[in-house]
Amino acid sequence: MSLQVYIDGKLLPKEEAKISVFDHGLLYGDGVFEGIRVYGKKVFLMQEHIDRLYESALAIRLEIPLSKEEMINAVNETVAANGIEDGYVRLVITRGAGSLGLDIRRTSNPQVIIIADNISLYDPQLYIDGLKIITAATIRNHPAALSSRVKSLNYLNNILAKIEGTDAGCIEALMLNHKGEVAECTGDNIFIIKNGVLKTPPVDAGILEGITRNAVIKLAEESGIKVEQSPFTRHDIFVADECFLTGSAAEVIPVVALDGREIGTGKPGPITKDLNEKFKQLTRS
Ligand code: PMP
Repeated sequence: MSLQVYIDGKLLPKEEAKISVFDHGLLYGDGVFEGIRVYGKKVFLMQEHIDRLYESALAIRLEIPLSKEEMINAVNETVAANGIEDGYVRLVITRGAGSLGLDIRRTSNPQVIIIADNISLYDPQLYIDGLKIITAATIRNHPAALSSRVKSLNYLNNILAKIEGTDAGCIEALMLNHKGEVAECTGDNIFIIKNGVLKTPPVDAGILEGITRNAVIKLAEESGIKVEQSPFTRHDIFVADECFLTGSAAEVIPVVALDGREIGTGKPGPITKDLNEKFKQLTRS
């Protein structure tokens, strides 16, 4: 059976799920999205993702034509219709079709698109060996130009940095902010551990407030680890004991080198391994 996509308030086979070429989501990246995991048929941290989606929409003055409750039902319905046990949900809201100009008042019919599918994950060996990453020359968008807290359909900033990473043979790349501080990776948040303290850039460093990030902070605090959300630089990563990334797709993945410098022992560290294990348990609970 063909994948069933939620569009225009109903489920349609993917071949029939279409939007206008005049949709501003396509013409300008004008829209918002979410990427959510499904574990054991259950949508993981659904409320947190829905809340972030509606906040992203509010920030760009996009009115989502469904209530949060209707959206949650639509997501659950799409997951069930496709028989997804362990997979991924992509939730996309576009501005809708309009004129070729930028004026949002000339657009109508914002689209709610929900795709629930299987997910291709990183090679399991990378969780054992850890990632070697580079710093991209492309800096994260200045928050006053486009807030990174908005998970917008305009991902060019991240894509340009990802190209740099890929060219260097890395599957992730670090992005700094306009002050030269560490922000995040192209699709993941970053953490370091130094002398037993877990550190991650604060939200106002110009990052997406990752849902996995927040879940890992909570897990760390519950296990008695001190967590600091304060700015740091690339140097702090070079001299850290451990480093890892978090994201809905990657979960918790160790980083063992940045720009040719080994981090700590050059192997995934004990706190990273422990948080990875605790996060796995959370997804199965
Ligand atoms: N930062 C960016 C730029 C992202 O796109 C993502 C999501 N892939 C993350 C961080 C991680 O966020 P989450 O844990 O909510 O998936």
